[in-house]
Amino acid sequence: MDMNCLFCKILDKQIPAKIEYEDDNVMVFHDINPKAPVHLLIIPKKHIATMMDVTEEDLSIISYIHKIAQEQYHKLGLKGMRLINNCGEKGGQEVFHLHYHLLGWTE
Ligand code: AMP
Ligand code: ZN
Repeated sequence: MDMNCLFCKILDKQIPAKIEYEDDNVMVFHDINPKAPVHLLIIPKKHIATMMDVTEEDLSIISYIHKIAQEQYHKLGLKGMRLINNCGEKGGQEVFHLHYHLLGWTE
């Protein structure tokens, strides 16, 4: 936990979010500024700043995030999705806690 981090504060329930799913390893919540009919953020509970900070021992969380994306796809009845990671300031990253945008379309 990094208590200066917005997403750690969401994980800690200090800041409210519309939580879609949570377990020991990840949280899924709705983006506050949706860019598609469904716009979820999938984040690891471990504070990792960017995709470039993912270490060998964190690799399992990346595949797990893909599994969670598959589950959300089915649960929400999506017909297509984009799973996006913005990495680094130049890559459009604004919140420095690793997250994947799940943009989904239902029709
Ligand atoms: P990125 O630019 O990839 O770092 O994406 C950060 C995302 O976090 C943006 O799409 C924001 O709309 C979203 N966001 C910022 N604050 C909140 C919040 N309090 N609750 C949910 N989503 C947020
Ligand atoms: Zn964090």
